[in-house]
Amino acid sequence: MKTNQKIHVLSQELIPVINDVDPEAQQIILQHTESCESCQKLYNQTVDFEENIPKHDYEEDVAVKPLKKLTQFNRGLKLFLIAVRVVILFYLISRLGWIEYKGL
Ligand SMILES: [Zn+2]
Repeated sequence: MKTNQKIHVLSQELIPVINDVDPEAQQIILQHTESCESCQKLYNQTVDFEENIPKHDYEEDVAVKPLKKLTQFNRGLKLFLIAVRVVILFYLISRLGWIEYKGL
């Protein structure tokens, strides 16, 4: 698998959660979408979808405070898992990229 193809696979995984992705990884994904039609399509769909989600108003947040705490916890956990996954995958990519470069 070529490095660009790996980035493509990662982008397909991460574009749906692009707003939760590390800014540095976001840059890589956005750069990739410029040269990849299917990722660009997915990205546009994701952006359209998120714009159509109605924003929560504060009254509702106050009414469901315990639930909100749980949501925040889940969100933190989700972010953590995404961050770990991104770090591992990019570590693997950089290692494999280096091996390809060295011709080993
Ligand atoms: Zn792609």
